[in-house]
Amino acid sequence: MRVYDIIEKKRDGGVLSRDEIKFFIDGYTKGDIPDYQASALMMAVFFRGMTDRETADLTECMASSGDTVDLSAFGDLSADKHSTGGVGDKTSLIVAPIAASLGCKVAKMSGRGLGHTGGTVDKLESIPGYRTSLSPEEFMTQVEKIGMAIIGQSGNLTPADKKLYALRDVTATVDSIPLITSSIMSKKIAAGAKNIVLDVKTGSGAFMKTLEDSEKLARNMVEIGRKCGRNMAALITDMDVPLGYCVGNTLEIIEACDVIKGDSPGALYDICIELAANMVSLTFGISVDEARRMCVDSVRSGKAFEKMKEWVSAQGGDAGYLESPGLFRQSDMRVEVKAECDGYVSRIDAGKVGSVSVILGAGRASKEDTVDLTAGIVMKKTVGDAVKSGEVIAELHTSRKEAVSEACETYSSAVTYSSEKPGKRTLIYETVR
Ligand code: URA
Repeated sequence: MRVYDIIEKKRDGGVLSRDEIKFFIDGYTKGDIPDYQASALMMAVFFRGMTDRETADLTECMASSGDTVDLSAFGDLSADKHSTGGVGDKTSLIVAPIAASLGCKVAKMSGRGLGHTGGTVDKLESIPGYRTSLSPEEFMTQVEKIGMAIIGQSGNLTPADKKLYALRDVTATVDSIPLITSSIMSKKIAAGAKNIVLDVKTGSGAFMKTLEDSEKLARNMVEIGRKCGRNMAALITDMDVPLGYCVGNTLEIIEACDVIKGDSPGALYDICIELAANMVSLTFGISVDEARRMCVDSVRSGKAFEKMKEWVSAQGGDAGYLESPGLFRQSDMRVEVKAECDGYVSRIDAGKVGSVSVILGAGRASKEDTVDLTAGIVMKKTVGDAVKSGEVIAELHTSRKEAVSEACETYSSAVTYSSEKPGKRTLIYETVR
């Protein structure tokens, strides 16, 4: 087999066989196929697309290009969730303990934040003592014993995706549905869960900016996950406005505690209940309505918060901080941003708020950057709230004195006002099952 022929076949609109896809993925991962040929094939896929069968084969070949996690010890009870990434998205911290409190086995690997989107592993590092890295034996034993663990991604999971994603990033071939699907789903398949719920974000703070593209991606990922033998559901949720009222690592842990205790109703709570309900519904084969009632009960009865503390303690974290968030280390400086006019907040651009978090030190501009765990934003007003000129709309937390004026200006430019109260926002556009 020659990679030249594979490129030519895709360039001319042909359908690749599983053997051809495997030959390419194996050769590229080993370094036998050079970047220039891989780039040519990625561009051919970008223009010609892939059938669902090709995308499923690509996903499976990428999933088996490195280590895989075997969760068969948990039968069909293993469950995972994945978000395509957003601003203020701390749903994993809430959803995983709710699902685990109801009997799901959540063996979760999460990533770090990059650009304007945050990452669960950075957030968890705010909790003193929390170990984001466990040996495979510790990981499995903890999930067996208490129903969940969240760690950073293992070094050799889907090496084919690591190489291909880096290549796509510099060859203008990221925005292709079969390539995004295979990239995301290969990581989920390698991570081993039988039941997978996807949170596909849509809007200015999301990877997919339009509802149409988000729907296409959600449907494709659900279809491919099923072809790979998994139970799948995808929620398409709003990311035009940041999720919840905090952005930043420690601040988001504190907010997650409020929500899981049932003390903070609103968009974040609603999305978390819906994600957890879909995980429980897929895992136990029950209706989403019944699963939703169980999730709400778990929060109201305090079971979900107990599970969160049990999980954090099991991973070496000091759960006392979750009980008493005042213990968390705070940033050196807090600066207020004030409303520029009377009226209603009609929009808060999630993409711009994400940029503010990077300016304040809470996010990474490049992979090598370190994050300031205490930095971030507390939004005091959200879409639909009435404001008076000069009223505080947000509090910025930072240790970077030199960043304050740019951060305040960028935050102000993210907020739009109207004289009429805006209509209710849609939070969950669609569930694909
Ligand atoms: N996230 C991924 O992991 N892969 C993509 O291709 C796009 C977003």
